[in-house]
Amino acid sequence: MTTLNGKTALVTGSTSGIGLGIAHSLAAAGANLVLNGFGEVAQALEAVRRHGGEVRYHPADMSRPEQIAELVAFAESEFGTVDILVNNAGIQHVAPVEEFPPERWDSILAINLSSAFHTTRQALPGMRRRGWGRIVNIASVHGLVGSEQKSAYVAAKHGLLGLTKVVALETAQTAITCNAVCPGWVLTPLVQQQIDARARASGDAAGARRELLAEKQPSLEFVTPQQLGELVLFLCSEAASQVRGAAWNMDGGWAAQ
Ligand code: NAD
Repeated sequence: MTTLNGKTALVTGSTSGIGLGIAHSLAAAGANLVLNGFGEVAQALEAVRRHGGEVRYHPADMSRPEQIAELVAFAESEFGTVDILVNNAGIQHVAPVEEFPPERWDSILAINLSSAFHTTRQALPGMRRRGWGRIVNIASVHGLVGSEQKSAYVAAKHGLLGLTKVVALETAQTAITCNAVCPGWVLTPLVQQQIDARARASGDAAGARRELLAEKQPSLEFVTPQQLGELVLFLCSEAASQVRGAAWNMDGGWAAQ
């Protein structure tokens, strides 16, 4: 079993969905956690604290480089270190490219891609000093393939896989690894919004959920935040020390088609 006792993990966008699932897995393995994100903050803090480790929260807006710098500095000042960095914060907007609002393009690129550059840039020197680190970028199956109406999201996630490869190469001769995880559909608020939009159009909520899965995900089942948390935990283990620059999909067979 992987033990992360004494390690500190910073998970961006961890008040909900996949980020919260990952925070649970890392805290259960003994890591101290820095949570970030909006919404149900108190609930997330309370839930992750139940694993027994130290848990802090920072409200940085991941579209703002100066706030990202404060987030990494906060984590280092609270715990002396960021050993595990999980770049997870992300948003979605669905529209054809010619109707895509330019300000949504900018915010998706900022939150889903540029934020990972800023956190990585600032957390890496500390990892190098201590001679160990794990960076896990939560990309998407949309880092590997495209879908209509998701120009900004697909571009950002493809970019995130590029960043992952470069950071993996630049750290290849150290005990720091950088990898990406590529989930298929996970039933979180981000996806529920897309199901709700389909249900509004068709008037059939259960049908909208079935259709969403049937279009892309051969297993016809959602991936869970818990399963993704366990995959991230594996990538943080010593067994994964030669997994470098990988784009590891957990997608119910989506990308195998
Ligand atoms: P979610 O909406 O449940 O959670 C997103 C998290 O990011 C929340 O904690 C939210 O508060 C935070 N966040 C959003 N904007 C932020 C900002 N500007 N600054 C700081 N925090 C911010 O979504 P999710 O489905 O759990 O998505 C998490 C990640 O997983 C995203 O990067 C998403 O692209 C990726 N992903 C999701 C799916 C899926 O099917 N749900 C599939 C593939 C990849």
